[in-house]
Amino acid sequence: MNNYEASIGLEIHVQINTKSKLFCECPTSFGEIPNSNICVICTSQPGVLPILNKKAVEAVIKTGLALNARINKKCFFARKQYFYPDIPKNYQITQFEYPICQEGKLILITSNIQKVINITRIHLEEDAGKLIHEFGNKKLDYSLLDLNRAGIGLMEIVTEPEINSANEAATFLNQLKNIIEYLNTSECNMEEGNMRCDVNVSLRNIVDKKLGTKIEIKNMNSISGIKDAITYEINRQRYILESRRKIKQETRLWDSNRKVTRSMRDKENTLDYRYFIDPNLIPITITETLIKNLNSEIPELPILKKNRFYKEYLLNEYDINFLVSDKNIADYFEKTVFFSKNKKRATKIIANWIITDLMTKLNENKLSIKESPINCENMAKLIDLIINGDISNKIARMIFEDMYIKSSDPRNILREKKLLQISDKKCLTEICNKAIIKNSKAALEFKNGKQKAIYAIVGFVMKETKGCANPKLINSILLELLTK
Ligand code: ADP
Ligand code: MG
Ligand code: ZN
Repeated sequence: MNNYEASIGLEIHVQINTKSKLFCECPTSFGEIPNSNICVICTSQPGVLPILNKKAVEAVIKTGLALNARINKKCFFARKQYFYPDIPKNYQITQFEYPICQEGKLILITSNIQKVINITRIHLEEDAGKLIHEFGNKKLDYSLLDLNRAGIGLMEIVTEPEINSANEAATFLNQLKNIIEYLNTSECNMEEGNMRCDVNVSLRNIVDKKLGTKIEIKNMNSISGIKDAITYEINRQRYILESRRKIKQETRLWDSNRKVTRSMRDKENTLDYRYFIDPNLIPITITETLIKNLNSEIPELPILKKNRFYKEYLLNEYDINFLVSDKNIADYFEKTVFFSKNKKRATKIIANWIITDLMTKLNENKLSIKESPINCENMAKLIDLIINGDISNKIARMIFEDMYIKSSDPRNILREKKLLQISDKKCLTEICNKAIIKNSKAALEFKNGKQKAIYAIVGFVMKETKGCANPKLINSILLELLTK
């Protein structure tokens, strides 16, 4: 990049996860038959009055608090006028001068930097409907309109142009998504369009104080797409600047097939939305008590949780990042540690079992950890059985499979399958003696100093006992017999 620095500001539309829409009682459920979740309000019939969904306002306040924003005690709804068929009333109810939140911030953490990205505002607005231009694979010469989405509550989070690279933008969005998921104020499901982003990019020569002319890439809905689009746009703008031409302010679209941005429309500087306060909606008054109550509902957020996990559990960075990436996984981990009788030794083993065995199974079955057939108590019992040397890892894996199917206590499965470990010393000594005779070569090698030779003998005992011998006990018996 040498002489140029990119400035990127994001406008992120996040669908608030209320059961009903912002100004009517229609459900917000996704994937319904077109135009089944609609009523006179969200289809903009004349003469109807919107009724504000209080839960949506609370979700915005909560998100603002988590992002250290100032909450405006009095705010208004404004009408943003434009002519487009996805909002039949020809204006969108949004917020203009008095949004619910202003002046927030998010601490961006990448491997080599920590920096603050200021959040200009978070406001509440209604979503538009969806225009459909294709049916099956056929392009229509007319458009269909689905209003199921119209009137669903969105919070728009706007950042200052302080993000400087595609990677930073991706990190910002991942961290923001993570925080919102913790707060549970949105599902943040990008495939379902719960989180959509307009990306503003400009380039300036580093000797210039003023930011360059921005272009806006509309309606992005994947983080990897956003990264690609920013990278492309930075290169395109640098090429223009290097050939001493001017960037013209415009709105562009990302073509994910050709991996280029294309001009959509000149940003008419004159585009005037003629905002004015919506006379049908009374101002929102936010009390100190409400703010206090919502503040108390905010859970420990990812950064703090990460720091605590480092101190409390002595896990490595990979494990911690994985566990903290999802609040429910972090909760599952902590609850399992809580139930374990060997907390200190168990933490790393529990982390491993969750990250590999449990998550693999859950992913295969498309289940979330909340739906895990194995509860934390039984998971802790399984790990304790391993730590106490009651079962080998191999048996543990077998039991795990059964626990997953039957959701039962590992000790019951052990009993049922008669897999409880043989910890009877006399019986094991007999098997060990047999093992030494059958593996005389390995025994001799061991006696001559080749430590690893003992594995062959241990393996034989395990096979004889179908994996049920107590591994610690075999080891000590074999050592005793072989060093006599
Ligand atoms: P508009 O009125 O065109 O929507 P705003 O000033 O409201 O523009 O900013 C919208 C978004 O564009 C914000 O996220 C802001 O940070 C970003 N932005 C503003 N100016 C620039 C710039 N020169 N370069 C990159 N992003 C910018
Ligand atoms: Mg904009
Ligand atoms: Zn409705």
